[in-house]
Amino acid sequence: MIIGIDDTDSRKGLCTTYLCAVLVDELKKRGYGEVSTPRLVRLNPCIPFKTRGNGAVSFEIRIANGKEEKVKEVVKARVSELSELREEETNPGVVFIDDNALNAISGKEREEQSESMLKNFYENAVREVLKIENAYAIISELHFDYFGLKNKRGIIGALAAVSFLALQKNNPNYYDFTYELMAYRRKESWGKSRFIEEASVWESDEATYPLVWDTVDVANNNIVFAPHSPCPVLFGIRGDSIDAIYKAYELIHAEPVERKMLFVTNQGTDFHLISPYRACGVVGQSPTKFGDAKEKLQDYHSYVLDGVVCSNPRTIEGGHVLFSIALSRKPAEKSIECIAYEPTKGFRDIIRELRVGDEITVFGSLKKKTINLEKVEIRKLNNAVERNPKCDKCGRTMKSAGRLQGYRCKHCGTYRADKDVVIVDRGMEEGLYEVPPVARRHISKPVIRMRMEGTNKKIHPSR
Ligand code: ATP
Repeated sequence: MIIGIDDTDSRKGLCTTYLCAVLVDELKKRGYGEVSTPRLVRLNPCIPFKTRGNGAVSFEIRIANGKEEKVKEVVKARVSELSELREEETNPGVVFIDDNALNAISGKEREEQSESMLKNFYENAVREVLKIENAYAIISELHFDYFGLKNKRGIIGALAAVSFLALQKNNPNYYDFTYELMAYRRKESWGKSRFIEEASVWESDEATYPLVWDTVDVANNNIVFAPHSPCPVLFGIRGDSIDAIYKAYELIHAEPVERKMLFVTNQGTDFHLISPYRACGVVGQSPTKFGDAKEKLQDYHSYVLDGVVCSNPRTIEGGHVLFSIALSRKPAEKSIECIAYEPTKGFRDIIRELRVGDEITVFGSLKKKTINLEKVEIRKLNNAVERNPKCDKCGRTMKSAGRLQGYRCKHCGTYRADKDVVIVDRGMEEGLYEVPPVARRHISKPVIRMRMEGTNKKIHPSR
């Protein structure tokens, strides 16, 4: 049986991954069956009613005969007990794929159809805005079982999480994935400040980066792997190698933990990005069907867009940096504004260096018709700068002779019709730049992962 769970926590406490860890440990302890490594999927990061990182969880249990109903009872009891039900925005949902339903969807004639339903649902949950009815339609069509509390909106995330696991279980490379090892605090510490020995975290990062990433932010002198909220999470170690993650864990000195759990996750994969006009999108990502290129770009969606800088960056109140690009392939919009917010810190220094004519690719979410930048690829710097011409006789800089009237040397009287075009050294390199770990979304791919995949692009990891 595959079980998916979502929307149990609030900003005031608890955490769906913790509930998952408690359940996995309990089901194993009670001897109900062998339990798989759980999955943690990050869904559309723009969803307004998310608590934090829009995460949902799932796991598979091979149940000893006849215990299915018992397992469901335990899951329902724990979800009811470990959910922040008093919070308006907490609406738990659970989806069960029983073995019968699982066998039916892997049966020859149904396999392709069911797989494409689950695939579409999962991918749309990461990239689009869904309605709960979309989830109910699939649950009923594929004879899944479900449970929910209050308005049950968590069913959306729960179905996305079981879909991810069902697609990935027989083919682990179906989607790009990474790992996160979560350590959970003892109950008596919840809400109190966390004890984590800082020096040990830096040492652990030094010993395991880049197989482990986003533990610290070197440029901003910050430890970023521990939340500051009252939730049960002590910290989470993210990376590409299980061995390196456990090595990092062993090197960290911190308060005693209640338990820990390793998750397979879509974090750090950029799976949320839609590449509307490319045959194939981001590295490691399958092409996305986007409909026709005349369609408008929509708020609450995340894109990869090619364009040419058409307004020089300017810093606005609050320290945010704003500029526009003319889109290379035009939908309804011809140009689009892009913003690097103040929390992206040093990333703004790169953005401020952009100039009209630079060919770039922007990566980020569209909100209020503005791309909120997560990454930028500078494909071709515009090195040609127009300047008032120099006089051939005396070498002095010529002055404008009036609007559209060319240039004249005040000293020698020499005339030139056009400006000089000079090639300058822009003092920056082309390639991929990213926001620092302090500002990184869970689902955003750190560019260092692209090096490990063997990209031939020039990358500038921020850490
Ligand atoms: P945490 O990261 O702490 O677990 P969260 O950020 O995951 O919290 P949730 O409490 O799970 O936030 O709330 C997100 C809600 O949005 C859930 O009810 C989930 O079912 C729903 N949801 C997730 N993705 C989509 C989507 N693409 N369209 C519509 N609803 C979605």
